Amino acid sequence: MDDLIYLDHNATTPTDPRVVEAMIPYFNKSYGNPSSIYGLAREGEKAKEAAREKVAKLLNAKSEEIVFTGCGTEADNFAIKGGAFANRKKGNHIITSRIEHHAVLNACKWLEKQGFKVSYISVDKYGFLNLDELKGSITDKTILITIMHANNEVGTIESIREIAGIAKDNGIYMHTDAVQTVGKIPVDVNELGVDLLSLSGHKFYGPKGVGALFIRKGTRIDSLLHGGHHEGKKRAGTENVPGIVGLGVACELAMEEKEEEEKKLKALRDRLEEGLIRSIEDVIVNGHPKMRLSGTLNICIKYIEGESMLLQLDHEGIAASSGSACTSASLEPSHVLTAMGISPVVAHGSLRFSLGRSNTKEDIDRVIEVLPPIVKRLREMSPFGKD
Ligand code: PLP
Repeated sequence: MDDLIYLDHNATTPTDPRVVEAMIPYFNKSYGNPSSIYGLAREGEKAKEAAREKVAKLLNAKSEEIVFTGCGTEADNFAIKGGAFANRKKGNHIITSRIEHHAVLNACKWLEKQGFKVSYISVDKYGFLNLDELKGSITDKTILITIMHANNEVGTIESIREIAGIAKDNGIYMHTDAVQTVGKIPVDVNELGVDLLSLSGHKFYGPKGVGALFIRKGTRIDSLLHGGHHEGKKRAGTENVPGIVGLGVACELAMEEKEEEEKKLKALRDRLEEGLIRSIEDVIVNGHPKMRLSGTLNICIKYIEGESMLLQLDHEGIAASSGSACTSASLEPSHVLTAMGISPVVAHGSLRFSLGRSNTKEDIDRVIEVLPPIVKRLREMSPFGKD
């Protein structure tokens, strides 16, 4: 779809052509298994290690602290389950928030079935974590705090540095799910002070099916996958060399381009926000006004359902989302918006626009042109009417 206006970059991004080009030789030319010892295999091994250095450089980590995974979900599961089991002798309590991605929430729920206790900390109306509640929930059994860097639905950026400081003062490991921030804003593991950090290639113009977990040297963590001696014996399985090479290039491009891109996205996002507020009544903007990802706009349009708007927008060649990609198939209102105090009825009217590299002013103006008449039409038919 050449003329599609794609505004769902928090769900996934197109793979950058420069990334695709770098990956191709590793499918059919330098295809050797990096664990083998002949020349062909060494080409893959070399490329994999060069990519590890690029990922480490973007995060200000050491390359031996980077473990490649199959996706962001795996990195989150690895950090949380691996961290929990490796430190079980010390305690069985984990702290997270109510607005995490399901990759974190469902890993925590599974751990509860294995005898761990989990505290789900609340957030304020902007999606900011309640730090007093966090401090109050720490016990001598707490072994891990896992709080996302930025929320995928509303874009609010959490105070990870402060939270990691609290974790450190109490001798607790700190993990952050940085799937929505790596490649978009500066993410420096030393400045943030985290022990574990997850990322995913397809959220910042790398390929799908590859992610990574930063594991600070000395952090006690168990493996999820047992098998060969891959990834420093931390994650068994023949490495996805083309994907890893692609992830490395995506990191390199992000290093060079993210600052300019962020400025551009913020200007476009603000234009969209202002345009929609001006032309539609009863709109709420979700997320923090300032501490928010530049490309994310999440709004609730009262008296109608997000899904109906999405279908109409799709008809106009505009791809957006109503919450996160993973929950859009369910009829439940977003757990993020309800945790922020938005009523389930209003939360049903949420739309998320997440902007990216290819978007233009013309794309934004097209949304501002087509959405108000869609809202008007739907409100006329809506069972949740104002009156
Ligand atoms: N964490 C966050 C905050 C996300 O937004 C996502 C994807 O939507 C994930 C984790 C899961 O990443 P992946 O799709 O690579 O498994």
